Amino acid sequence: MTQADFDTALHSQTAPHRLPRQKHPAHFKPLIEGLLRTRVRDLKLPPELATLYKARSLKISRAIMISWCLWVAAINVFAGLFDLFDMTGTTLMIVLGFRGLVSVSFLLSASLLKRDLLARREHYLIIIPSVVCVISAGLAGRVSGQQDIAGGYIISALLVIYSAVMFINIDFRYGKLLAILSIILVAGFMFTTPGGEFPAKLQRFSLYGAAMVGLLVAHRIQLHFQHRLFLITLRDEMAAAEAANAHAELSNIAYIDRLTDIPNRRYFDEICATLSKTTQNLLPLSICMIDIDKFKNLNDSTGHLQGDHCLRMVANEIRAHLRGKTDILIRFGGDEFLLLLPGTDTAHATDIADRMRTAIAALQLENPGSPFGIITASIGIATQHSQPVKISQLIEQADTALYRAKSTGRNRACQ
Ligand code: GH3
Ligand code: MG
Repeated sequence: MTQADFDTALHSQTAPHRLPRQKHPAHFKPLIEGLLRTRVRDLKLPPELATLYKARSLKISRAIMISWCLWVAAINVFAGLFDLFDMTGTTLMIVLGFRGLVSVSFLLSASLLKRDLLARREHYLIIIPSVVCVISAGLAGRVSGQQDIAGGYIISALLVIYSAVMFINIDFRYGKLLAILSIILVAGFMFTTPGGEFPAKLQRFSLYGAAMVGLLVAHRIQLHFQHRLFLITLRDEMAAAEAANAHAELSNIAYIDRLTDIPNRRYFDEICATLSKTTQNLLPLSICMIDIDKFKNLNDSTGHLQGDHCLRMVANEIRAHLRGKTDILIRFGGDEFLLLLPGTDTAHATDIADRMRTAIAALQLENPGSPFGIITASIGIATQHSQPVKISQLIEQADTALYRAKSTGRNRACQ
């Protein structure tokens, strides 16, 4: 047991068998197994898994969207520098105006995405500036009045759309919508621009369209692989949580006394090694050996079940009086409890022991076989001031002190 384990043990004392909870509902397991058996291309996440996937991928996809918007805005400004060489006067002003509009709309999207102002509607922050970009490119090309410049603008706008379709993780439906909208707009601009041969335009348009369809297909496959990866991760997470649960349950079975719900002797043996090593912050270390008086007589007179009930009540009472996270209570065996009090000197330990003893007597549990008529306890106290801690020696001293408490009349604490 390491120091960290020991600290954890201290912390878990008040709730020794708090199990790690399975985060996902149990029916996810067969669902995921079934989905992982289907072919990647047929993979379709059911609504609850799709929601989880979206929630998980949102942060990263939003970060990608923001940097994509910023890059498009920046490249658009950079490309505007070349317009200065190609155009002059009013034409230049209008074209730069369109460029400004495109950059501003992408910057606006980036800023809205950053502030998370359109929760679950992020796709619009990609679709709207992208459409603005295609329309602006088409209009700017037309204003320029030059065939090759207009063609260049359309290709630039299409590159923006291609990159959006391929890299932005928006729902496939919206990716498709963006692709269709932009292809329609591009067709509108290309075929209504005067000049140029129709067959050549048709050939170029077919090429743009085919590239878009190819990208959509590739993106769909990519999404399916991402979904599969998500399912595998989820399955592994659930398996790890299950294993952790099983481990915690086994530890509970091994280390927690079923009757009183507090750590048992085996647990104490485990932490003893740590106690011997980690002395500095534990000293002075006091222990109290608490033994119920005339408990055998209670069993004999009222039966074992009543005896069990009494043990539970006493254990609860002692536990309720522990000092937060520092003290450790062990059911040492039979009607004997061991209390480990790190950083506690004898005087303080005696106070605590007296408080425990008074609290147990205050339960007023009948014990006809006891001279007090009720359940009481005797306590032996021992303290170690220097390192290394010798637990067995400490236990022996506490035992001797307990014997003294018993032989001098019971219901008392002795050092
Ligand atoms: P003393 O005051 O000297 O301690 O007298 P005592 O009768 O309490 O003597 P002792 O501590 O030796 O007796 C312990 C008894 O506790 C013996 C056993 O029958 C009883 N006991 C041990 N474990 C359990 C248990 O889990 N349930 C019940 N009901 N009784 C138990
Ligand atoms: Mg006893």
